[in-house]
Amino acid sequence: MPHGFSTVLVVNCGSSSIKYSMMAMDRGHLCASGLVEKIGENGSLLRHRADNAKGEPVESRREIKAGDHRAAFAHIAALLRNTGILADGAGPDAIGHRVVHGGEAFSAPVRIDPDVIAAIRTLSPLAPLHNPANLIGIEACLDAFPSASQVAVFDTAFHQTLPPHAYRYAVPNDWYERHGIRRYGFHGTSHRYVAERAAEYLGRSLQGLKMITLHLGNGASAAAIRHGRCIDTSMGFTPLEGLVMGTRSGDLDAAVPLYLETALGESADSLQAMLNREAGLKGLCGSNDLREVLGREQAGDEHARLALEIYCYRIRKYVGAYFAALGGLDALVFTAGVGENSPVVRSRICAGLEALGIAVDPEFNERSPEPVNEIGRRGQAVRVLAVRTNEELQIARETLSVLTS
Ligand code: AMP
Repeated sequence: MPHGFSTVLVVNCGSSSIKYSMMAMDRGHLCASGLVEKIGENGSLLRHRADNAKGEPVESRREIKAGDHRAAFAHIAALLRNTGILADGAGPDAIGHRVVHGGEAFSAPVRIDPDVIAAIRTLSPLAPLHNPANLIGIEACLDAFPSASQVAVFDTAFHQTLPPHAYRYAVPNDWYERHGIRRYGFHGTSHRYVAERAAEYLGRSLQGLKMITLHLGNGASAAAIRHGRCIDTSMGFTPLEGLVMGTRSGDLDAAVPLYLETALGESADSLQAMLNREAGLKGLCGSNDLREVLGREQAGDEHARLALEIYCYRIRKYVGAYFAALGGLDALVFTAGVGENSPVVRSRICAGLEALGIAVDPEFNERSPEPVNEIGRRGQAVRVLAVRTNEELQIARETLSVLTS
């Protein structure tokens, strides 16, 4: 490549796990990916997937000794070198890190240096489960791959264009000014990626479009995008707010946990954990996996039926609200596990939105998933698309754009 960055390692670090994707940017594709789990425990597990010489994906799985993230990266590097993906002794040219929270400090990806590391650390109280783990990954990579340039790509950055009337909550000013209580929004990398793919498919510039993107995976969020800038999003101060998710409640009267704290004597920590891990579809019907919920509904389970109704109704309300916020709509975009793969959920979400110019075509909606599927009824005012997201590729591209600009 003219700028000399042909291999980008994309890293998503959790407190005891590392997800990685190795991208060959000159060929524009993924050459390997994998996951290390149970770092710091006995018997860490490394799962790795790469294409063989015939271009068929081959998966391997083995126990490794990884007392910390640095040791885990050494195993990943050895594997990439042994399989010829990296040259002997070499590291990737660049590393792109998914960092969950960039607060108000970061509205774009940034090359990592000691000041950036300090700023991510300062933001840790806003994302105590994620930012510290992301930092461990950054520091371990600095050790394991000292010659690679590193970039942080923030989940919150795409939403930094929200206007104050969308990001402020109606709480005392002091809460915002002293404690940073505001809407930040998450899944930004995915919303940006699918918005750009949708605009490309439509043959229009993103600058000329009003779009709603629905990222419906285990976590779920909606974004309203006008002329390429995000103007509202459903996740808030944390990823708890907004749509019904696999295990998160989404929108909830703030008085509910306060009431339960007193009524049940539950601690704030335990309520927080329940709202994040035991609520949503799981809380309503016992499963957080949407395929399973659909199966239970088919088998006559009333809890599953109601859970799906609440799930789709919440999304439909957001579509209506964002239609109003945008002052019209050109495209509605579904993405992530549910959005890309579930015709039945997409059609239930769109049912009753004909007055807004939104309708799904039953035949197009059933087509097997492609990178972009147009599923809307032709002739309607709003184009409805299902777009396969690719956060890793977006992180790799943003990494390169920082390093080459
Ligand atoms: P993600 O977090 O993007 O991996 O999405 C995970 C969610 O997508 C889970 O709830 C899955 O049940 C759901 N999902 C994946 N494939 C399908 C499908 N074919 N139909 C319905 N839901 C699906």
